[in-house]
Amino acid sequence: MSTVALLSEIIAQGGKISARFYRDNPTLATLLRHGYLSEAGVLKSVVCNDCEAPHAAPVLFEDGRYGYVCSDIGFVVQDRAVFQALQPDLPLLIERLPQALDCKKTKGSPLHDQTWRIGAVVQDAGEVMLYFQPRLQGEEDASNLTRALSQEVRSRWRLIVTSLGTLPVANAETVRLSDLAEIDSNTGAFHILAQPGDLVGMPRKNKRGRPSEYGAILSALIAARKKSGASLAGRNAEAKALLGDFKQEHPDLTPPSISTVRGYVSNSRGGQ
Ligand SMILES: [Zn+2]
Repeated sequence: MSTVALLSEIIAQGGKISARFYRDNPTLATLLRHGYLSEAGVLKSVVCNDCEAPHAAPVLFEDGRYGYVCSDIGFVVQDRAVFQALQPDLPLLIERLPQALDCKKTKGSPLHDQTWRIGAVVQDAGEVMLYFQPRLQGEEDASNLTRALSQEVRSRWRLIVTSLGTLPVANAETVRLSDLAEIDSNTGAFHILAQPGDLVGMPRKNKRGRPSEYGAILSALIAARKKSGASLAGRNAEAKALLGDFKQEHPDLTPPSISTVRGYVSNSRGGQ
């Protein structure tokens, strides 16, 4: 199981979990080491499987020993580690996920109940606003989310990240945390697996330079050619040479038209 998948499973349980269920799971140690899980005291009760039928058994600390109480067997002494409770650190999750996504407008506390704003990711065609909702499985989860979103600034592209369930939400897309990101087990940082813009169906722009992009690149090229004394006297000849430089330095961009380049050459010469 991946690190994110285990973290998701634990978050989905909605509270403290017992460390003993994961005792032999090395991924749990990774989550603890990087702070995604923290120790949260001792469980109040566990399930007793030692008598006729499984039942909830209160955990007690008596005479310096931990144990649980079964009406059939009595006080069952166990190592403290058996009762260790762990809980997911959601504020830490909402700190590291936006870092990996390069988000703006992050909020470090829940908007409402358990709904968090991860923040806004700027993509080609606009801004995708991401939210985190631990579970999106039942009607209650959905109505809590709706209430939280109703207080938020309207945005065209919304992505709800959850650890469990992907109940449809009006005016938003949903994605499981494990489909959005993974955790590097060495550094503890998130790696993004899918672009939020793609997940919400935002149209992707072709890799064509925008006018503003051309401007910065062409101005830099013109300045470089002037500095090196490579500038040609004729405007057309200079534009042609400049376009050649552009193609050479930015083979991944669709080059501007020759008339656009000529315009930049003219501007750089004060329109003469
Ligand atoms: Zn029992």
